[in-house]
Amino acid sequence: MMLDKVLIANRGEIALRILRACRQMDIPVVAAYSTADRDQKHVLLAEEAVCIGPPSSAQSYLNMAVLMSTAEVSGATAIHPGYGFLSENADFAESVEQSGFIFIGPRAETIRLMGDKTSAIQEMQAAGVPCVPGSGKPLTADDTENRKIADRIGYPVIIKAAGGGGGRGMHVVYEASALAGAIDMARREASSFFGNPSVYMEKYLELPRHIEIQVLADEHGNAIHLGERDCSPQRRHQKVVEESPAPGITPEQRAEIGELCVAACKRIGYRGAGTFEFLYENGEFHFIEMNTRIQVEHPVTEMVTGVDLVAEQLRIAAGEKLQYTQDDIVIRGHAIECRVNAEHPETFTPSPGKITQYHSPGGPGIRMDSHIYTGYSVPPYYDSLIGKLIAYGDDRDAARARLDMALSEMIIEGIQSNLSLHQWIINDPDFAAGGMSIHWLEKRLRQRAGRG
Ligand code: ADP
Repeated sequence: MMLDKVLIANRGEIALRILRACRQMDIPVVAAYSTADRDQKHVLLAEEAVCIGPPSSAQSYLNMAVLMSTAEVSGATAIHPGYGFLSENADFAESVEQSGFIFIGPRAETIRLMGDKTSAIQEMQAAGVPCVPGSGKPLTADDTENRKIADRIGYPVIIKAAGGGGGRGMHVVYEASALAGAIDMARREASSFFGNPSVYMEKYLELPRHIEIQVLADEHGNAIHLGERDCSPQRRHQKVVEESPAPGITPEQRAEIGELCVAACKRIGYRGAGTFEFLYENGEFHFIEMNTRIQVEHPVTEMVTGVDLVAEQLRIAAGEKLQYTQDDIVIRGHAIECRVNAEHPETFTPSPGKITQYHSPGGPGIRMDSHIYTGYSVPPYYDSLIGKLIAYGDDRDAARARLDMALSEMIIEGIQSNLSLHQWIINDPDFAAGGMSIHWLEKRLRQRAGRG
């Protein structure tokens, strides 16, 4: 019943995470790696590894044909896409399944449906999930009509790409006179970034928190939620620190929004692990998008629920029924994750290069998900995430104290890292209090730089 052999179509910490889940379940793996990644930890640990091309992602981790032929020749029966790269590419999922392999993720049509944010919003509205007030459909070229929509929603509004991602191509509009220009600009950017000019409009929420719900669903119609994560500390719309549970969210609120997400999963026939992202303001959740893959920040949910989300992805892909019911999911304690990046802690300039010394932290409640080691060279071709430090404690303060200690124990030399940024963040009085908005971190960084 279980998967025969899994091709890991990714790199870095998530490739190692997938390898570990497979190992633990006695599933053989094949690591697909680019020439820049020969020395990756998971490549060294895998019983089988195949070089799939040069460093450029387009020719390696995004090269569908090469990945599929690698699966074929290595005898893999399933492909795990991790996050990023091809993980939310419906065409890839479709060719994988059409060629007789298992795609470890949802069905291609689900990825397509949720990948277009306007169709995702329409599905969510139909499922009763609260959304941000907005156009609810792609905008047309009719300026008068667009002004009417903005008037109805109320300024400020935000223009977003239906096919968007990575926080790019969004434009906030404060008054009617700037609307048409912003829509034009957003359309042009959407075409060039995402190959899809479709844009839509939402109310711009001014001080929201980012709170997301983790779900698991099998192909037998069962679905559960695993509570929420608060990912509000962001820089340029990129998450920096994540935690679970979200400070101040009551069990009743959790159950209410969680059950709506479960209902939405059932409605769209969701399969696998997924995340419903919300902006939370004035006690209300507003859906913004669904991520149809495992997320970087999944470990905080694993720590507070005890569920191994990647192992569950593998079981679901093998056609098994969920081994948990909703009642089995109990949130216990608190977990916080820091994204460790190879970058300058103040300027954020990427800092690839050779790690001359690495000491990972340890002790009770500390988890380090990272592929780096002393002597490893961080290649310049990919994103700068080199690991995730996760601390667990009985409550938020206990988790924060352990995180602080772990950060102070950790050593990364030879390259720059953002460890000192994380220490500064988690010791900030606002962070200690919890519940900051998505703008808090950038505001603090501006203050730190002396720019008010
Ligand atoms: P992407 O797929 O590009 O990440 P999202 O829809 O998830 O786009 O939005 C990314 C981020 O942009 C959010 O986490 C939030 O910081 C900001 N954002 C998006 N929509 C709104 C909105 N309606 N109001 C305020 N901020 C928003």
